[in-house]
Amino acid sequence: MTSSRKVVLRFPPQAANQPLVCELSLKFGLVFNILRASISPHREGLMLLEIVGEPDRQEEGLRYLADKGLGIEALSQDIRKIEERCFHCGACVGVCPTGALTCDRESYLVSFEEKQCIACEICILSCPTHAMEALI
Ligand code: SF4
Ligand code: SF4
Repeated sequence: MTSSRKVVLRFPPQAANQPLVCELSLKFGLVFNILRASISPHREGLMLLEIVGEPDRQEEGLRYLADKGLGIEALSQDIRKIEERCFHCGACVGVCPTGALTCDRESYLVSFEEKQCIACEICILSCPTHAMEALI
């Protein structure tokens, strides 16, 4: 029976320009849907991927990607911004790989666009007031 799952793939710089995700179809017969991605040559990249197929084949495919050096994390949580804790320092804006966190040029207020977020949690580490939070 087929099932689907969402995972976050972290590409090390040396793997960022390799078509490794296509191998999920070619080698393991999986269907995949790239939901969001932030990948540039020679830099670490992130991709939010939905995979559909037999669970065993999913495991094999993800193991294959891990063997190629990719980091793989299950996407089991959403991210939220706790406005009362945010003092708009902008520390999270520079580290967000997808542009989900932006700073308005006139007001200097930092906004969070949930649809752009791939739940990589990088902003959580960078926020001094714990205003960014992962919801399990
Ligand atoms: S978790 Fe934070 S850093 Fe990662 S994409 Fe979402 S807002 Fe950006
Ligand atoms: S790092 Fe934290 S306090 Fe600073 S702008 Fe981002 S969410 Fe707000």
